[in-house]
Amino acid sequence: MGPFMEVCLLTVLITASVGARVIRNHNSTLWQPSDGTSREDWLRCHGFPCDKWQRTKEKITKLKYMVTSDGERTGVSEIPPDIDASDDSLDGCIWVTEEQIDDLMEELEANWKAEDGEQKIRKKRKLDDFSNSFFGLWDLPIAWKFDGSHDYQQREIIRGGFDHVEQQTCVRFKELGVNENSNNDHILITRQPTGCHSFIGHIGRRSQQLNLQDACIRTFGTIVHEIGHALGLWHEQQRADRDQHIRVRNGNIGSYAGQFVKQRTVSLGVPYDVGSVMHYDSYAGSSNGQRTMETLDPLEQSSLGQRTGLSFLDAKIINLAYCGEVCRDDLRRPCLHGGYQDPNDCSRCRCPDGFSGTFCEALAPSNANCGAEIRLTNDGSEEFISSPNYASDGSGSYDNHDECNWRVTVPNGYHVQMEFVEKFSVYCHYASQCNHWVEVKYNQETLDEAHPGARFCCYSRPTAVLTSEDEEMVITLRANWTSTSSYYRSGFQARLVAVKDPFVTRGFSTTVSSTTVSTTATKASTQPSTTLPTTVRPSMSPGCEDMDLVFVLDSSGSVMEANWRKVLQFVQDILKYLPIHQNKVRVGLVSFGNGATTHIYLDDHSEEMLLAMNIEMIAFKNQWTNTGAGLRMGRRVFERSPRNVNKVIVLITDGESNRDADRTLTEAALTRDVGIEVIALAIGNQANLKEAEDITGKSENVVIFENFDSLKSTYGTMKVLNHVCSDHMMGNPNTTGDPEWSCSFEDNQDALCGIDQDKNDVFDWTRWTGATPSQQTGPSKAHDGSYYLYIEASRPRKYGDTAKLLLPATTKSGTKCMQFHYNMHGFHVNSLEVFSLTSDGKQSLIWKRFGDIDDTWREGSVKIALSEGDRLVLVGTVGMEFSGDIAVDDLQVLAGTCPV
Ligand SMILES: [Zn+2]
Repeated sequence: MGPFMEVCLLTVLITASVGARVIRNHNSTLWQPSDGTSREDWLRCHGFPCDKWQRTKEKITKLKYMVTSDGERTGVSEIPPDIDASDDSLDGCIWVTEEQIDDLMEELEANWKAEDGEQKIRKKRKLDDFSNSFFGLWDLPIAWKFDGSHDYQQREIIRGGFDHVEQQTCVRFKELGVNENSNNDHILITRQPTGCHSFIGHIGRRSQQLNLQDACIRTFGTIVHEIGHALGLWHEQQRADRDQHIRVRNGNIGSYAGQFVKQRTVSLGVPYDVGSVMHYDSYAGSSNGQRTMETLDPLEQSSLGQRTGLSFLDAKIINLAYCGEVCRDDLRRPCLHGGYQDPNDCSRCRCPDGFSGTFCEALAPSNANCGAEIRLTNDGSEEFISSPNYASDGSGSYDNHDECNWRVTVPNGYHVQMEFVEKFSVYCHYASQCNHWVEVKYNQETLDEAHPGARFCCYSRPTAVLTSEDEEMVITLRANWTSTSSYYRSGFQARLVAVKDPFVTRGFSTTVSSTTVSTTATKASTQPSTTLPTTVRPSMSPGCEDMDLVFVLDSSGSVMEANWRKVLQFVQDILKYLPIHQNKVRVGLVSFGNGATTHIYLDDHSEEMLLAMNIEMIAFKNQWTNTGAGLRMGRRVFERSPRNVNKVIVLITDGESNRDADRTLTEAALTRDVGIEVIALAIGNQANLKEAEDITGKSENVVIFENFDSLKSTYGTMKVLNHVCSDHMMGNPNTTGDPEWSCSFEDNQDALCGIDQDKNDVFDWTRWTGATPSQQTGPSKAHDGSYYLYIEASRPRKYGDTAKLLLPATTKSGTKCMQFHYNMHGFHVNSLEVFSLTSDGKQSLIWKRFGDIDDTWREGSVKIALSEGDRLVLVGTVGMEFSGDIAVDDLQVLAGTCPV
């Protein structure tokens, strides 16, 4: 594939990739300061003479310690001696000039004097009120350039950020060559490993630094966010009117609070926007894993921290600031629904999301099989809407970039009432931040004034029942971020009905089928409450006859209280299947947050006691994730009561270590070194699979769950028991030498050995020999022999396209080991997944790797219990550009567990 890819970042947004990535040095010329300063000094002092920057830095440091997040005095007279001097930004994101910091200080002092009863004397500011919001406007077009340190793909993505702003505003940019001489002030894009930073507005230096280190470039909205700063925008949560919309939780904020200091910003009449790309997320700056910001309207909480691109109101405030003079004539009719005259086409309105037409009079078209104008009658009849390809059991999924728009109206005097039903799964981050969302506009502010509506996402069905203020409701689905797994976008279904009284929630006429499994009694019943297939009854499995088993549970904030209860319930479910006894299976339990706590020791309980214990009452720590401390404590539980049996730790986590993280792998190695087998249950899309694999020491010991709810199923219990009671831990591997099935793709007559290329996916795997056609991606040759299979990521393939291989159906039930070789090499490698698929269509994720690994072939193995007729499925997903080839070779399925 050629290097000239069309990069359409307006719609193709990139995900924050988890995989490690090797940065290659590029020998292209680096930008040099024209004033004779060394490049190093220039970068260190951000383009200012270093003595001036040193003064600025001291003032910034002082300000950080002078105020709380509310701008109140802290009473801290001395700056702590251990302050981190490496961070010279105001809040980790914004750099300010000495003049700007003087201005902020002056304002604070004036406010304090006023509070103290002194006359409020405020020096006339050098900048007027308007430019307090926009510290300095640029002349258009705004020149910018790279400093030469970003690679080709990174440059293309960053250019996409500038294009994105141009498409939504009258602001125009002009890219200059790295060392092209320019008489104009310009933005210089650097790649220092310090973070994502920008100055606010045009500060009047010839070269004005904007830094995008590699991590910033993986999230498209972060690039747009920094450009927003350079155009003059502060953070949304710093707006003077923020307290009418959000509550800042001071107690949860870290050591200093610069990022929450309110500025005397001017709104230009644009309402506060919880959906702004300039707004921080709910947990930003948290010292304890709890929210630092709560929206006064709980339905707005998930809108915070959006990073898909400029919101409608973000673009509006930029247009008001920069484009006031662009259109000479007014439109002949006013724009509806909060739209305004489009400076990029003065003959029409720019419309809020969900609306279109010259005057925003129409419902925007949908781009998938969804969306409609719906007129409800007042006879109580119901209508249902759902996302594209929705299935109530979660087996279907909508596509990345699907856009759906529905408008629902009811007769005069009635209201639209909406409720989510059945399975709900809409891609999110950190169990709170919407990457995709269902948005409901249901009142005058959201329908007529373009405030963002209530947004819903994540993986449990929202319980809110929404009722329209008047006779109209607009519902949209937005998916402008690529989720690599369809599990995260099963979608939603909602039921709609017309009601007379908006304050009464109408009982729906049919029962909503519940997806929850009824909880079973925790009292001393030794009988399983649900029937497991006899082949996997752990009591039949020699590995579970005698064993010491310690659960090490992540109790950090990201798990959240409700999920913590599900984890504890899951532990109790597992216990019901184990022969608990001092001479058989003994159980311990540790939880960890900032540190770790032992709740159950191996030698202090009998089966009756254990089952009678109120495990579900163990407190949720709600702290950081110190996985190393959890493993250390788990090891001590074994040491305290040694016994010569198999020792197993089951680690359950939903994320990655973020406290003493450098100790995690050391503690894991120490744990394995004393003969403890570690099995990690990685839950949800934030779980760091690489870390989980490094902790356990082998990929086979990582068990993946899509979310906390999937722990609850019998299948989940079985999946884990299958690992815990594994035969090979008895030193009794029952794998046979001969595989039940294998394929090396070498045989020209039967190249695929009975594998089917799925007919319902987007494209097929390619059989190939030698290197893949694109450079810098894919393997250079087969793992063994000549041929292998790979997915070609070049055009016409689009981001998120999937190719599925269906292995032949299992002929004999039992535990199997699937072994395979894979190659994931290239900047834009997306994901490779293995699923099991039952004959009745139930699909479960059992193995997954994500992102660029390296250019070697790796061996993967996964153990799974299969019934006759079940199939294994390999799914490759295309990354954002051509350098995303993924290859597999030498697959085999063995009976029994995987060899150690
Ligand atoms: Zn910022």
